[in-house]
Amino acid sequence: MMVTQKLVLVGGGHAHLSVLRALAKQRPAGIDVVLITTSKHQNYSGMLPGWVAGHYTQAQCRIDLAPLVQAAGVRLVLDQVIGMDAARRCVGLAHGPHIEYDVVSLDIGSETDTSWLETLGDKLLPVKPLDNFFASWPRILAAATAKKGFKLVVVGGGAAGVELALAAQQAFTHAGVDGSVDLVASESGLLPGHARGVQTRVQRFAERAGVTLHFARGVGSEAGVLLADGQLVQADQVIAATGARPAVWLALSKLGLDDRGYILVDKYHRSVSHPNVFAAGDVCARTDVAMSRSGVHAVHAGPVLAQNLLAALGGGAMRPYVPKRRSLYLLACGSRYAVASWGRWSAEGQWVWRWKDWIDRRFMQRFSVNPQPDTASLLEKTP
Ligand SMILES: Cc1cc2nc3c(=O)[nH]c(=O)nc-3n(C[C@H](O)[C@H](O)[C@H](O)COP(=O)(O)OP(=O)(O)OC[C@H]3O[C@@H](n4cnc5c(N)ncnc54)[C@H](O)[C@@H]3O)c2cc1C
Repeated sequence: MMVTQKLVLVGGGHAHLSVLRALAKQRPAGIDVVLITTSKHQNYSGMLPGWVAGHYTQAQCRIDLAPLVQAAGVRLVLDQVIGMDAARRCVGLAHGPHIEYDVVSLDIGSETDTSWLETLGDKLLPVKPLDNFFASWPRILAAATAKKGFKLVVVGGGAAGVELALAAQQAFTHAGVDGSVDLVASESGLLPGHARGVQTRVQRFAERAGVTLHFARGVGSEAGVLLADGQLVQADQVIAATGARPAVWLALSKLGLDDRGYILVDKYHRSVSHPNVFAAGDVCARTDVAMSRSGVHAVHAGPVLAQNLLAALGGGAMRPYVPKRRSLYLLACGSRYAVASWGRWSAEGQWVWRWKDWIDRRFMQRFSVNPQPDTASLLEKTP
C-alpha cells in the first residue's frame, strides 16, 4: 500500500505561490499538502505604494489564494503558526490543533522592527502586516483630510519607506490635504545598497515633491519622532517601514538560525539543521551567498523551491537557487513616475513607471489565472 506523505506549507508568500502553481500543473500522487496562512489573500507589496498613491484598487494588489489552492488540490488552513518543533516535526497554530508534517516549507516573510518607535502608541502604523496597513491607510487619509496641518512621518530610508512617503505625498496632493509628509532615514541616507545615481535621483524627486527629509536615527516619543540630533519631528501619524526582523517563535523551533534569528538554509533552500525543512523569501538566510531580503528573490526562488520540495518527498534531483548578481528594482515615486536601479545603472521617467506597472500587472495575472491540474502527469508520477 502506498504511504501518503504530508507536505505543510507555512505562509502564502511569494515563493509558495510558485509551489502551488507547480502542484497544480504536476502533482505526484501520495502527497497530502496543507497550506497554513493568515489570510485567503496574498498581498503584493510591489503595488502597495501605487494603491496608496491612488493608481490601483485593493483588489488589484492582492492574489486570491482560493483558485490556486483548489487547482493544486491543497487543503487551506486559515490560521497563524505560533510555534514549531523541528525535532517533533510539527507546527502549532493560534486557533487550532498542532499539525504534523513529513516535510515543511516556511515562506512567512518578515515583520517590521518597531522596537524604537513603540512609545508612539496609537500613532504608530507598521507597514507589516500588510492586511493591517490596507485596513488602516483609508482612515489615515480621512483623518488627514479632516485636520488642518496634518503631519505624517514615515520612518525608514529603504525602498519601502521612500516609496510610501512619496505615495502618501501624492495621495495628500490629490485629496487636497492641508498637511505635510516627512521621511526619516538614518545617517546612511536614502536607499542604502543602491548606486549613488539612484539615491541622487530619488532624493531630488522627493525634495521636488515636497517631502521633508531627515538623515538621523529616530526614536518614538508621544509627540512624534525624536531624532539623534535632538530635533523633534512632530507627528499625527507615523508609518514605520523600518528594518525587517524574523518571527520571534522561530527562536524556539530548534532550527539552525543565524545571529538575527533567520532560518539558515543551503543553496537548495533546505535548512542546514533539519533536511526535511525548507525556507524561502525574507524568513531565510543563505549560508553560501549574501542575498538581500526582497520580493525579487522570494519570487525567483519559488520554482526552485517547488522542485526541491517534490524531490525531498519523492526522490529526484534538487536544484540550487542561484541569485543573480544584480537585481532590477523599479522604485515608484508617487505620481506615475519611477526610478530604475540595476547595479550601477539608473534611469527615471514616466516610461519607467509604465514598465513597472506592466511587470507588476503581469505578475498578478500569472497567479490570478486558474492553472488546470495536469491529470496525466498526476497518474504518471505515482511512485
Ligand atoms: C511597501 C513595500 C514595497 C516593497 N517593494 C518591493 C519591490 O518593489 N521589490 C522587491 O523586490 N521587494 C519589495 N518589497 C519587499 C517585499 O515585500 C518582501 O521582500 C517580500 O514580500 C518577501 O516575500 P515573502 O514571500 O518572504 O513574504 P511575504 O510576501 O511577506 O508573505 C508572507 C506570507 O506569510 C503569511 N504569514 C506570515 N506569518 C505567518 C504565520 N505565522 N503563520 C501563517 N502564515 C503567516 C502572511 O500572511 C503572508 O501571506 C517591498 C516591501 C514593502 C513593505
